[in-house]
Amino acid sequence: MKSKEKKIKWRWLTPFLALLMIVVGALLWVKMEGTPPRIEVAPEALSLGIHAEVMITVSDAKSGLSRVKVEILKENKAIPLLEEDFKSPGIFSKSGIREKTYTVTVEPKKLGLADGEATLRVMARDHSWRHWFHGNPGYLEKETVIDTQPPQIVVLSKFHYLNQGGTGLVVYRLTESCTKTGVRVGEHFFPGYGGQPDDPQRYVAFFALKHTQGPGTPIAVEAVDGAGNTARTGFSYHIKARRFKKDVIGLSDGFLERILPRFQSQIGGADTGPLIDRFLLVNRELREKNYQQMVQLTAESEKTQLWDGPFLRLPNSERRAGFADHRDYVYQGKKVDEQVHLGIDLAATAHAPVPAANGGKVAFAGELGIYGQTILIDHGLGIFSMYSHLSDYAVQTGQEVEKGDIIGHTGDTGLAGGDHLHFSMVIHDTFVHPLEWWDPLWIEKRITAKLMGTENG
Ligand SMILES: [Zn+2]
Repeated sequence: MKSKEKKIKWRWLTPFLALLMIVVGALLWVKMEGTPPRIEVAPEALSLGIHAEVMITVSDAKSGLSRVKVEILKENKAIPLLEEDFKSPGIFSKSGIREKTYTVTVEPKKLGLADGEATLRVMARDHSWRHWFHGNPGYLEKETVIDTQPPQIVVLSKFHYLNQGGTGLVVYRLTESCTKTGVRVGEHFFPGYGGQPDDPQRYVAFFALKHTQGPGTPIAVEAVDGAGNTARTGFSYHIKARRFKKDVIGLSDGFLERILPRFQSQIGGADTGPLIDRFLLVNRELREKNYQQMVQLTAESEKTQLWDGPFLRLPNSERRAGFADHRDYVYQGKKVDEQVHLGIDLAATAHAPVPAANGGKVAFAGELGIYGQTILIDHGLGIFSMYSHLSDYAVQTGQEVEKGDIIGHTGDTGLAGGDHLHFSMVIHDTFVHPLEWWDPLWIEKRITAKLMGTENG
């Protein structure tokens, strides 16, 4: 009787045990996984300035995170930056922390860390049952440099006589290589170029004063090193105020009827409606759009000087409109608009050959809205010349040109009343007075002497 009872018990027990073994086996299979947490640190090249922020992402897809610890090691000391424990979500739960990103602030001076090499160490564990329930260890060490000293800027050029609407040049030396450096003029930033001519720490920065920036405009050299330390240095300069001409442009129906069809596809909308409304779209919105295009085209420049000596002016030409002429547009006896003319208009014979003003590389050749058929030449170090309203052009983007090469012919394309060349000089994103660049004396005294280090007043 007894043995029969036992037998019945065993009959129940066997499948139960089998099931239990399957469950335990499956659980062990899941809980004994051996994949350690993943650790990522950004930025890739780490150097820590006065106030550094390091992004640390820790993830564990299988068991979830149980612990994260970040410390910085320097001279056999470990200084904790961060420590966090995560509770186990329970044996059967799938939830838990699979990924977490920390932004860790490191302020070396507050932590008592001197400048020099250091190691950032990140340790993480997961909720795996391996290692006697301590979890899989993830580990990452990253070599860093603590650098809380801003770069030193030494201005080498001596005299900075500037004109409102003109170009300036400053030559300077940095004590360390920098991620960003240049000259700030008001709100505008003009990058400096290192290695001029062969010294990587010697920088030249061409900058511009807009036609609206007269005496009192703040100008300073700036440099930011890899650790984010910023230095800013002023230098002595003198800005000469300039007054610019005022001009009135009368708009006739005949002129508007003739030129508006050129822009119809660029301003959209119907080709009916008042002529003056359509003209204002061209003169305001298309003008602004074309300026933005020019800003994009001049954002990158060749890193060496491609030009030499004074820039060429269109031969045998007469000056019509001047740089920074303030123009009132009058239609049917009323002022309807105002704009500033940021180039010089030169008229020669119709379809006169246009020479490249100096050596460079064609940054753009094509149709550019109100400017019509236009060529933009990059002369390197942020200096560009621009030729507009051409009847044709003989160069392509990317082509190298020498001073005097015929690049096209004058015309009246775009917003032009008659055959002429609209010539502009551009320093990065700013139109400047071309007169300085045509002047051999200005080039010699204000540019070449600075570049050679032979300034004498
Ligand atoms: Zn013009």
